[in-house]
Amino acid sequence: MLKLSNILSADIGIDLGTANTIVYVRNEGIKLREPSVVAIQTGTKRVLAVGVEARNMIGRTPPNIISMRPMKSGVIADFDITEAMLQYFIRKVCPRRFYSKYVRPRLVIAVPSGITDVEKRAVEDAAHAAGAGTVILIEEPMAAAIGVGLPVSEPQGSMIVDIGGGTCEVAIISLGGIVHSYSARQAGGDAMDECIASYIKRVYNLLVGERMSEMIKIEIGSAYPMAEEKTLEVKGRDIVAGLPKTLTITSEEVREALKDPVGQIVDAVRTTLDKCEPELAADLVDRGLVLSGGSSQLRGLDKLLSDQTGLPVTVADDPLSAVAEGTGAVLKEIDSLEKYRRSAS
Ligand code: ADP
Ligand code: MG
Repeated sequence: MLKLSNILSADIGIDLGTANTIVYVRNEGIKLREPSVVAIQTGTKRVLAVGVEARNMIGRTPPNIISMRPMKSGVIADFDITEAMLQYFIRKVCPRRFYSKYVRPRLVIAVPSGITDVEKRAVEDAAHAAGAGTVILIEEPMAAAIGVGLPVSEPQGSMIVDIGGGTCEVAIISLGGIVHSYSARQAGGDAMDECIASYIKRVYNLLVGERMSEMIKIEIGSAYPMAEEKTLEVKGRDIVAGLPKTLTITSEEVREALKDPVGQIVDAVRTTLDKCEPELAADLVDRGLVLSGGSSQLRGLDKLLSDQTGLPVTVADDPLSAVAEGTGAVLKEIDSLEKYRRSAS
């Protein structure tokens, strides 16, 4: 039945990532991808910019403005700012429809599997405060597994490793539930960027910004020796002379710098496999594990994980969209999920 509220409102899936927020609108697909960054005026806490615009301000703001990432390391570091960010993104995808007193959009939000009940409540509260009606939370690895098309509801083991900016989330899923999971909060892309920056500081006395170290990682970073190693020109500020300086760095050096966070990803996968029952382990031997999330694109990470576990490893076709696609798939079921909730309560 076509309901008026369906025309006026929209059902929305949100991958509330620490690095990027991706919004999926039911029947329309992915409508927005922006960095999870907010620029605020210090003192008044007035929001000045959100998303791309705010990210471009990072490291370039005067003292009265700060550009911050409210979701750093997978949790809500600042409630008000997360709410403002959610509101901005939701308004952007459905400008007219959203703000009605009578029809409120239903939201499916993917959250990291390691978050506490208090943190979950904070996400729900932020969504309601931003104007949402029903809010359904789904664990990120489950959303990612659904998004990449793993047979999550079958009685067989599937393994997903989602590596974003703040966290590395590992999960083994069977019969629609997470059987084992592990969340490493220091093994994401941010930790990689920090390790590159501190390596360059230690070895060359050069200070590089957050965005420069991320660029180095994306341009020449790797987890496994490359057939052809690369070099890159790096700009920063010399600590000793205090002046801008340029130097050349090699991909071997960057790999060395990334040893720690990459090692933690390997450990997270191994720890999860260690807990696995023999039947599930047997499924994984055949089916292997799937990588998603932006940081799964680090060169050679699949090869390293395959070497270290002996399992086949594949990177999702569109690793950055997996979680959002998963929330989109859940939106299709939202009517029955809502009914189920009502009858359960
Ligand atoms: P989140 O879910 O935490 O928002 P994403 O899945 O959007 O994170 O991934 C963002 C992370 O992916 C960032 O740390 C970014 O630097 C990293 N990233 C993006 N592209 C690449 C690449 N080609 N190689 C390595 N890391 C990458
Ligand atoms: Mg993510």
